Amino acid sequence: MAKKSKKIKDKQRAKYKAKIKEKQSKEKEVKEVKEEDVLYICTECGVKEYIPRDVVEIFDEIDDENIIEPPTYSCEKCGAIMRPKKYEGVHGITYEL
Ligand SMILES: [Zn+2]
Repeated sequence: MAKKSKKIKDKQRAKYKAKIKEKQSKEKEVKEVKEEDVLYICTECGVKEYIPRDVVEIFDEIDDENIIEPPTYSCEKCGAIMRPKKYEGVHGITYEL
Protein backbone atom coordinates (compact mmCIF):
# COMPACT_ATOMS: atom_id res chain seq x y z
CA MET A 1 0.00 0.00 0.00
CA ALA A 2 2.70 2.42 1.03
CA LYS A 3 4.71 1.53 -2.03
CA LYS A 4 1.82 2.33 -4.28
CA SER A 5 1.24 5.79 -2.90
CA LYS A 6 4.93 6.55 -3.21
CA LYS A 7 4.77 5.70 -6.86
CA ILE A 8 1.87 8.05 -7.35
CA LYS A 9 3.79 10.80 -5.62
CA ASP A 10 6.77 10.24 -7.87
CA LYS A 11 4.52 10.42 -10.86
CA GLN A 12 3.02 13.67 -9.66
CA ARG A 13 6.44 15.08 -9.03
CA ALA A 14 7.55 14.17 -12.51
CA LYS A 15 4.45 15.82 -13.89
CA TYR A 16 5.09 18.89 -11.82
CA LYS A 17 8.69 19.06 -12.94
CA ALA A 18 7.66 18.77 -16.58
CA LYS A 19 5.17 21.54 -16.06
CA ILE A 20 7.78 23.84 -14.57
CA LYS A 21 10.16 23.07 -17.36
CA GLU A 22 7.51 23.87 -19.91
CA LYS A 23 6.68 27.11 -18.14
CA GLN A 24 10.30 28.14 -18.00
CA SER A 25 10.85 27.52 -21.69
CA LYS A 26 7.68 29.44 -22.45
CA GLU A 27 8.85 32.35 -20.34
CA LYS A 28 12.16 32.32 -22.15
CA GLU A 29 10.37 32.45 -25.46
CA VAL A 30 8.27 35.36 -24.35
CA LYS A 31 11.36 37.20 -23.15
CA GLU A 32 12.99 36.77 -26.52
CA VAL A 33 9.95 38.19 -28.24
CA LYS A 34 9.79 41.12 -25.84
CA GLU A 35 11.54 43.96 -27.53
CA GLU A 36 9.53 47.06 -27.05
CA ASP A 37 6.53 48.69 -25.52
CA VAL A 38 3.15 48.32 -27.17
CA LEU A 39 1.89 51.36 -29.01
CA TYR A 40 -1.69 52.18 -28.09
CA ILE A 41 -3.76 54.63 -30.08
CA CYS A 42 -6.99 56.27 -28.97
CA THR A 43 -9.88 55.35 -31.29
CA GLU A 44 -11.39 58.82 -30.79
CA CYS A 45 -8.71 61.46 -30.62
CA GLY A 46 -5.74 59.51 -31.92
CA VAL A 47 -3.52 60.09 -28.90
CA LYS A 48 -0.62 57.67 -28.84
CA GLU A 49 0.81 56.08 -25.76
CA TYR A 50 3.44 53.45 -25.24
CA ILE A 51 2.52 50.87 -22.62
CA PRO A 52 5.12 48.41 -21.35
CA ARG A 53 4.54 44.98 -22.83
CA ASP A 54 4.67 43.44 -19.35
CA VAL A 55 1.69 45.51 -18.27
CA VAL A 56 -0.31 44.70 -21.39
CA GLU A 57 0.40 41.01 -20.96
CA ILE A 58 -0.83 41.04 -17.38
CA PHE A 59 -4.14 42.49 -18.55
CA ASP A 60 -4.22 40.08 -21.45
CA GLU A 61 -3.88 37.12 -19.09
CA ILE A 62 -6.51 38.40 -16.68
CA ASP A 63 -8.92 39.02 -19.52
CA ASP A 64 -8.71 35.52 -20.95
CA GLU A 65 -12.48 35.17 -21.31
CA ASN A 66 -12.42 37.53 -24.22
CA ILE A 67 -9.36 36.60 -26.19
CA ILE A 68 -10.66 37.87 -29.52
CA GLU A 69 -10.30 41.40 -28.19
CA PRO A 70 -6.95 42.81 -27.14
CA PRO A 71 -6.61 44.43 -23.74
CA THR A 72 -7.76 48.03 -24.05
CA TYR A 73 -7.26 51.18 -22.02
CA SER A 74 -9.20 54.38 -21.60
CA CYS A 75 -7.73 57.49 -23.13
CA GLU A 76 -6.63 59.97 -20.50
CA LYS A 77 -7.66 62.87 -22.72
CA CYS A 78 -11.11 61.93 -23.96
CA GLY A 79 -12.03 58.72 -22.16
CA ALA A 80 -12.47 56.70 -25.34
CA ILE A 81 -10.98 53.26 -25.85
CA MET A 82 -7.34 52.93 -26.73
CA ARG A 83 -6.34 49.92 -28.77
CA PRO A 84 -2.93 48.52 -29.61
CA LYS A 85 -1.59 49.38 -33.06
CA LYS A 86 -0.02 45.96 -33.20
CA TYR A 87 0.25 43.51 -30.37
CA GLU A 88 0.85 39.80 -30.26
CA GLY A 89 -1.06 38.53 -27.26
CA VAL A 90 -0.27 35.84 -24.74
CA HIS A 91 -2.89 33.62 -26.38
CA GLY A 92 -0.97 33.63 -29.66
CA ILE A 93 -3.30 36.07 -31.39
CA THR A 94 -1.97 39.14 -33.14
CA TYR A 95 -4.17 42.17 -32.77
CA GLU A 96 -3.85 44.98 -35.26
CA LEU A 97 -5.69 48.22 -35.79
ZN1 LIG B 1 -8.62 60.08 -26.77
